[in-house]
Amino acid sequence: MSRRRRIYEGKAKTLYEGPEPGTLIQFFKDDATAFNKKKHEIVDGKGVLNNRISEYIFTQLTRVGIPNHFIKRINMREQLIKEVEIIPVEVIVRNISAGTLSERLGIPEGEVLPRSIIEFCYKKDELNDPLVSEEHITAFGWASPQEIDDMMALAIRVNDFLSGLFLGVGIQLVDFKIELGRLWENDIMRIVVADEISPDSCRLWDIKTNEKMDKDRFRRDLGGLVDSYQEVARRLGIMNENDPKRGKGPVLVKSDKT
Ligand code: 5GP
Repeated sequence: MSRRRRIYEGKAKTLYEGPEPGTLIQFFKDDATAFNKKKHEIVDGKGVLNNRISEYIFTQLTRVGIPNHFIKRINMREQLIKEVEIIPVEVIVRNISAGTLSERLGIPEGEVLPRSIIEFCYKKDELNDPLVSEEHITAFGWASPQEIDDMMALAIRVNDFLSGLFLGVGIQLVDFKIELGRLWENDIMRIVVADEISPDSCRLWDIKTNEKMDKDRFRRDLGGLVDSYQEVARRLGIMNENDPKRGKGPVLVKSDKT
């Protein structure tokens, strides 16, 4: 039985004290929630898949030099991460219209945006994570103007990298949300990517069929969430723990689109 100190209980993850100062253990739960927990189900296997997919993505981010909190995956459900001070602002990057952008502005889902659009939401469950501007962020002291610049630069780098990664396996990155944190190393602070990047936090559409391969399957009662997440993992070349083919890298999917 675990005696670890629980630091934070989120909707889809729990954070525990890590083995060394400055580290935490991030546990991926099977809970699926939407509409600020109004919809809540346990989806068997989701946590394991998100742990693997997020591990893969953060490992690739490290490879291309995008600073982040990830240290290593410990087991099927847990990762060792660096402790950061989470900035209470979610950064959303959109390439194609969908979700709340479509609802707010009356733009049909599926239109390629003239350019990638960055949005900020204040992390506050009680208020349903409202959209905020840079003015709100600086006026209320959630982040400084320099930090906002760093957050936007990181978000664009993540978008460029992830768009290419997913395109190579026949998946369109419609939009995604990231969380960022302040990491202190020898009195120097830098902003790093934190939390998770998985089909829970990205909209992923199959390039050929436009089929949704992300949490919208749960939000919109489409079913087949675990199958879709498994397919994302399969295309990224992430296989089961005991599978001898594990770690072969992404599976190239040719697109009919040019
Ligand atoms: P939207 O604003 O359209 O609901 O979401 C835009 C993108 O950000 C989607 O990919 C969605 O999954 C992600 N996103 C926005 N807010 C949250 C959140 O609170 N949790 C998670 N997991 N993803 C979010």
